[in-house]
Amino acid sequence: MIATPLVGTSPSNGPLVAVLGGGQLGRMLGLAGRPLGVAFRFLDPAPDATAGAVGPLLIGALGDAARVQEVARGATVVTYEWEGVPADAARAAAGSAPVRPDPRALEVAQDRLVEKEMFRRLGIEVAPFAPAGDAAGVARAVDAVGLPALAKTRTGGYDGKGQRLLRTGADVDRAWDALGAVPLLVEARVDFERELSVVAVRSAPGETRCWPLVENHHADGILRVSKAPAPGTTLAMEQAAADLAARLLEDLAYVGVLAIELFERDGRLLANELAPRVHNSGHWTIEGAETSQFENHVRAVLGWPLGSTAARGHAAMINCIGALPDRDTVLAIEGAHFHDYEKAPRAGRKVGHVTVTAATAEERDQRLAAVAAVV
Ligand code: AMP
Repeated sequence: MIATPLVGTSPSNGPLVAVLGGGQLGRMLGLAGRPLGVAFRFLDPAPDATAGAVGPLLIGALGDAARVQEVARGATVVTYEWEGVPADAARAAAGSAPVRPDPRALEVAQDRLVEKEMFRRLGIEVAPFAPAGDAAGVARAVDAVGLPALAKTRTGGYDGKGQRLLRTGADVDRAWDALGAVPLLVEARVDFERELSVVAVRSAPGETRCWPLVENHHADGILRVSKAPAPGTTLAMEQAAADLAARLLEDLAYVGVLAIELFERDGRLLANELAPRVHNSGHWTIEGAETSQFENHVRAVLGWPLGSTAARGHAAMINCIGALPDRDTVLAIEGAHFHDYEKAPRAGRKVGHVTVTAATAEERDQRLAAVAAVV
C-alpha cells in the first residue's frame, strides 16, 4: 500500500532518493532535497510516518527485503535515516540502486562491541571496555575496567535504554538479569567535563568535511539541547575531531553524513558511539550553517559536490520532547526557528525542535534561555 503524499508531487526526470525510515530525519532530508529538484520516497512501518508529508510512503517493515526492494525500484540511490535497519535488508536494495552509506556502517553501529573495537583499531580513544557473555563475564569485565562502570546491551540500546550504571558489587551481580541476559559491553564510566559531537560528511569521490563541534546536554538519556559551535573549543580540538571523523569515514568508505558522540575530558576527546545517519545534534545546521547536514547528505549520496559546513554565527537547538510549546510564543522570540514534526504527542517522543540563531554567543544564550522557558 502506498499512502498518498500530503503535499507535493515528484519533479519530472529529477533524481529520486529512496529512504529507509520515514521519521523526522527522513522528513528533513526531503525538505532539504526538494529545492535541489530531488524527489523522495520512504519506507516505514508506521502508516502515519511523518516523512509521508514530503514524499510517497510505502508501509512495511525495514527488515523486509521485499519491501526494501520495492521502495528502491527506479530510485537513483537508496539511503537510510535509522541505524536499526538490518544491514542485509539494506543490501537487498543494491540490485535496484546503489545503497549509500554502505550498509557495513549499520553493522558497526548496531553492535557496541564492534563499534568500540573499530574506534580502537583506528587509534580513536575510548573508555576502557570489555565484553560480557554471561553473569560471571560481567564480574570479569568489571575487574578489567573498574567501577563505576556502565553495562550496555551490545545491540538494541538507544537514548540511554538498555544500560545500567554499576557502582557496587551488588549492581554487578544484578546487571546480567536486569538487562535481560543478553550479550553486554561493560565500559568504565568516563568522568567527562561535557559531551560533544562531530557531524561529518564524505562525498562519493572521498572529500570529507565537518561542521564545528557541538556541545550536547542530555536528560534521561535523551538529547535536550545542542550548542554550536560548542563554546570554548580550541582549534586543536576541532582538528582532533575532524581527524577522527575522517579516519572513520575513510575506513567505512562512507558516503553521506555520520555523527560521532564524544566525551571531552582534560582537553581530550573520547568516542562514545557513532550514528551512520543525519543526527539530532546536527539539526542546528538547517539555519545555523552554510549548508545543512540534510542537504549535504542528499548531495553526497547523489554524488554531487558538498556545500560549505561553516557556521553562519552562533546557534542552539532545543528538542521538544512529548509535546510542542505554543508556536506563537516561540515565533515571537527573535532568532527562533520552529520545527513541528507533525507527530502525535506522546511521553518521551521527539515531536519537534526549536533552533535559535544569533550573531554572538551571549545573544544565542539569551535566546536559548527564552525558548527554554517555554519548551
Ligand atoms: P549511549 O547510549 O552510549 O549514547 O549513552 C547514553 C548516555 O549515557 C551518553 O550520552 C552519556 O551521557 C552516558 N554515557 C554513556 N556511556 C558512558 C560512559 N562510558 N561514561 C559516562 N557516561 C556515559
